[in-house]
Amino acid sequence: MIPVTKPFLPPIEEYEQFVRDIWKRNWLTNNGPLVNELELNLKDYLDVKHLLYVTNGTIAIQLAIKALGLKGQIITTPFSYVATTSSIVWEGCEPVFVDIDPLTCNLDPNRIEEAISPNTTAILATHVYGNPCMVEEIEYIAKRRNLKVIYDGAHAFGVKYNGQSIQNYGDITTCSFHSTKLFHTVEGGSVVTKDPDLLKRMAYLRNFGHDGPDRFASLGINGKNSEFHAAMGLVNLKYVDQIIENRKELCQHYDEFLQQVNGVRPMVREYVRYNYAYYPVIFDTEQLAMKVFDSLNKNWIYPRRYFYPTLETLPYINTKGHCKNASSIASRVLCLPLFDTLTKEEIDMICRIVLRVQNN
Ligand SMILES: *Cc1c(COP(=O)(O)O)cnc(C)c1O
Repeated sequence: MIPVTKPFLPPIEEYEQFVRDIWKRNWLTNNGPLVNELELNLKDYLDVKHLLYVTNGTIAIQLAIKALGLKGQIITTPFSYVATTSSIVWEGCEPVFVDIDPLTCNLDPNRIEEAISPNTTAILATHVYGNPCMVEEIEYIAKRRNLKVIYDGAHAFGVKYNGQSIQNYGDITTCSFHSTKLFHTVEGGSVVTKDPDLLKRMAYLRNFGHDGPDRFASLGINGKNSEFHAAMGLVNLKYVDQIIENRKELCQHYDEFLQQVNGVRPMVREYVRYNYAYYPVIFDTEQLAMKVFDSLNKNWIYPRRYFYPTLETLPYINTKGHCKNASSIASRVLCLPLFDTLTKEEIDMICRIVLRVQNN
């Protein structure tokens, strides 16, 4: 069986050492020493000014929306994981979908202006597959129209754009450290900002609004994460460069084999240090994509339709079917298996099946 992804697991002894230390300290959660250490190491690795380690990548988006005090409409992408949209609705705001650029699969900045209304307060865009959004264009529009910008950077761990960490863009960038992601802490996530006031607000929000044991600064929620999760992060962070390097090689192997496929890969923009988070292939037709999907399944290989259906089709969304590029790509895309222990022989097998279906 070859799934689309398998979580990276470090040598168990390295994790055990951290667990023994947790036992000695008897400090399991609530801003413990390992959480602090992980935050410092992540700030260093990602080259960002302020970072908070939180429960997961969904809470991260919700904290970001709450901390910015957003109301009304938020312009967003229909081509992302459901958490991008559900967080907007959960925070009592209305998502307004703007279509994607079919070459990069990211929110198309040229279509943002026409979607802005007097109720628009922000833009929430996803760096899909780790491919950076058009951050300069989005920033330009946001400045001119007085909108806040949040990036869902769940796929973009370790990505650099113009030599800078992609996490540095926008008012806040969120990340997910879920087990299925490139870098994981079992469950986990982060919020990153350059603004010390926003940092402070999110720190209160993460911890029930506590300002000392019996004082409260604001409304809050439980967005903390534990010492056990932080320990997994501290171990895995040591391996992340190696993981990215390995995934790069695996992707190049796919590339060589799949040059003859009737389809395209999303374009990774220039000036990017990419992280090889996913291996999406956009087939020419939905029919071909589904044939490939079925044949792979018959051989115990499980690609995923990331992201199908588009977020416009969610049952709690009223405006449907405006975003033609997103619907078209969603129907034709398959993410092929990509994880650290995947072998080149397995890739050969996957590619042979893909090409056989196509040439039949
Ligand atoms: C995984 C993911 C999330 C949610 O992160 P969790 O840590 O699972 O809550 C949000 N947005 C995108 C684009 C994701 O891929």
